[in-house]
Amino acid sequence: MSVPSYSILCTQCDYRSSSNATNGQYYYKDDEGQFNLERQLGWCNGCQSITAIEDFGKTSKAASEIRSKLELISLKTGTVWANILNVLFKSRREWLDSTIETINSYAKYIELAKARTGQERCLKCSSYVVVPYKPTKERGDLDVHGFMYHGERNTDFEHPGCGGMFYEKADNVRLHGKFEPRFYTTEGVFIESCLEKTKY
Ligand SMILES: [Zn+2]
Ligand SMILES: [Zn+2]
Repeated sequence: MSVPSYSILCTQCDYRSSSNATNGQYYYKDDEGQFNLERQLGWCNGCQSITAIEDFGKTSKAASEIRSKLELISLKTGTVWANILNVLFKSRREWLDSTIETINSYAKYIELAKARTGQERCLKCSSYVVVPYKPTKERGDLDVHGFMYHGERNTDFEHPGCGGMFYEKADNVRLHGKFEPRFYTTEGVFIESCLEKTKY
């Protein structure tokens, strides 16, 4: 797997971070199973770095996903004929099961976001002292062409404790990496990654 990326650098010091800090597969795990963990880039005071932090700002996207899945379900279950097909075809039942699971996963995210908005944590060190990295992108151009970022741009996001400003610069190489799934409690605390699990 390879994804385009850019570096986040500081105008005053040699700090360096990467847009790919949020790449990979992140899941919450609870008694019933696992569901998707939405994350974003953020400044973490514990790590003193821009890294992946929890993101509870995607509830309207999750809600619209639920609505469209429910519409599909009502299409596929709304008539006697549709239900006869459901009895006859295993693939239709499997589709229903997996769609219901997806809806459940979005619903859990919305529930969690309701309970924990404002308590976003760093997904590396679990610190609550985090700020989403959402700078105004100023002066310059950083775009994806041909599966790579090109160019560079300044931001209005200050490097905390340094006084320099972050700027973003396209990486010359594409990152190749295999991302092992990472699991967290619904409190945002790291449990395990499959890679580490197989190591021991
Ligand atoms: Zn700096
Ligand atoms: Zn941290």
